[in-house]
Amino acid sequence: MVAAGMAATVLFMKPPIRRSGPPWPYTAQNELLAHTLDSLGGILADTLEVRTSVIGEGFLGGALREAGVDGDNYVRCCTALHDSLQWRVQHEGDTIEAVFVRGRLSELRAFPRSVRGFYCVKLGGDGLVSECTFVPETQWTRLRAVTCDVRSTVWQSLWDYALPPDLSPSGEIVTERDSSRASAYISELQHELTDRLFAYDIDFYHDVRIGDRVYILLEEVRYPGTSETGFRRILAAKYEFSSGGVAEAFPFYHTVADAVVLDFYHRDGASLKTMFLRMPVPFGRISSSFSSSRMHPVLGYSRAHNGIDYAAPAGTEIYAVGDGVITMRQYSGGYGNIVKIRHANGYETGYGHMSSFAQGQSVGSYVRQGEIIGYVGSTGLSTGPHVHFEMKRNGSFVNPATEIVPPVSPLEGDELQAFLGFLPILESAWERMAGVDLPVPPPALVRTSADGQD
Ligand SMILES: [Zn+2]
Repeated sequence: MVAAGMAATVLFMKPPIRRSGPPWPYTAQNELLAHTLDSLGGILADTLEVRTSVIGEGFLGGALREAGVDGDNYVRCCTALHDSLQWRVQHEGDTIEAVFVRGRLSELRAFPRSVRGFYCVKLGGDGLVSECTFVPETQWTRLRAVTCDVRSTVWQSLWDYALPPDLSPSGEIVTERDSSRASAYISELQHELTDRLFAYDIDFYHDVRIGDRVYILLEEVRYPGTSETGFRRILAAKYEFSSGGVAEAFPFYHTVADAVVLDFYHRDGASLKTMFLRMPVPFGRISSSFSSSRMHPVLGYSRAHNGIDYAAPAGTEIYAVGDGVITMRQYSGGYGNIVKIRHANGYETGYGHMSSFAQGQSVGSYVRQGEIIGYVGSTGLSTGPHVHFEMKRNGSFVNPATEIVPPVSPLEGDELQAFLGFLPILESAWERMAGVDLPVPPPALVRTSADGQD
């Protein structure tokens, strides 16, 4: 049951909580980010490989050998786990990860299912054990680089290429694979990629082609109480179109209203965010445009359509298109269940016909761009599942498709200078990622038609 993991994995610890101090308080986070990306680039260049195995019936030795740990390494790792780390009893289902750099064992991680954390044995360049530690689960994060060829839909490509080894349907790695966790992982990753990072730069409904390629640097966490991995966030991404052209998302910590946030920028320091997302649902199809007069499908006579209808399956998540405060959240006549949000600069958006509202929000709640506010339905005057999306500026309806929305401020001054200094590190990480070999999914997972987007 030896299976090689994705070719690029590196452990690193959570960034320290916000530090403050002149002249600009968030240098520390950006330095850490730069260091992380830099070391990732170095490791990728060295061809890193992670081999995973599962312990069967309490037998550690077999699992170590399956993961490629043998000879002197085998003796050293057994001794370190047993004597230094006091891991004496193994159970079926405990997992082992062996990290090889250029074929040399550099780190061994043991994940007992019953323990909230993992044992880590590091080996130096001389092959001797240099460090033995227990890493608590709360501090476990991992940076991973994935490269995805688009062969049908973006979702399918992420599924084929981006799942971590312990959730991967293609690897004979885990004893009890949880497909719902695998789906959740990919859903969260895709949401971040298509609905947040590139929501305005790429039209994922029309512009995606077979042969496009996506590079993602992502951060993972260990699920509490299990040996499985969860998606945490994207740290950088790049989308290469097969027709030429590229969209990039470079990370940078900056300050917003006295808080530190990780945001994404173009290479010139312009924000990837615009004030509003292109549309409030993923892969929505416009079923009715904004117009001053149209035949109403239910009422049967002509009247203005003050918004855009996006058809989407019932239950699809509806996102707030921009940051703002919920001003209405109720059943309201022909709109059915509707949420209205007040934004900056005199804007207001409305989302009608919802099947239900998101949990934990109410009138007065502050929501962020891309946050789920409800689910597609067909309540009120409606002929089928869709979201009626409308926008007002200073009290008058405007067409969301043509409205020229104010941009979010670019990086400036010290922040811009720091970002530009950071750019070469990001660039070199991309270059090295481009050389990473792609794992090939089994034929059963390869689809050729562009399905699954309606
Ligand atoms: Zn409508």
